[in-house]
Amino acid sequence: MAAHLLPRMLGNVLLLLRSLLRSSGDGLAPAAGGGTGTLSEATVATDWKKNLTPGQFYVTREKGTEPLFSGIYLNNTELGIYYCVCCNAPLFSSEKKYNSGTGWPSFSEVYGTRGRDESNTNIMRRPDNSSGSIRTEVICKRCDAHLGHVFDDGPTPSGQRFCINSVSLNFKQGSGQ
Ligand SMILES: [Zn+2]
Repeated sequence: MAAHLLPRMLGNVLLLLRSLLRSSGDGLAPAAGGGTGTLSEATVATDWKKNLTPGQFYVTREKGTEPLFSGIYLNNTELGIYYCVCCNAPLFSSEKKYNSGTGWPSFSEVYGTRGRDESNTNIMRRPDNSSGSIRTEVICKRCDAHLGHVFDDGPTPSGQRFCINSVSLNFKQGSGQ
């Protein structure tokens, strides 16, 4: 091979490299500046982790259950409202709290219920088959926090027992109005 061809070949290689670098640079530019503005699920989870204690995160975001007879609100008889620990939506009133003997704070009705109509409350019900039995999960309508479950063995007149984890709640004294 003639020695004089070498510089030309090197020149071609450099040109090729430069065009490759330029095109990859062009390719990156729109992606870097073109975020959609929506948060990924991972980002949201990280934010909850930052703002909640590990126990609160485990129960509300990973559908955990606090150990029975451990919750700080189990025996709370003060008058007031129980709010969602994640988003501060009012969920339950002390008026409908009762001692079910199960080891978790229990309520016979959701705050804002009219008759049997829960459409103006901040909770949602969702079927839960995770433990082998069919239960009804109770979730915060506003932020999707797992709160507990509802059973149909509560006191009259509602006949319902909302079995709620203390760590998913934040109690504030007063009427909540
Ligand atoms: Zn909430």
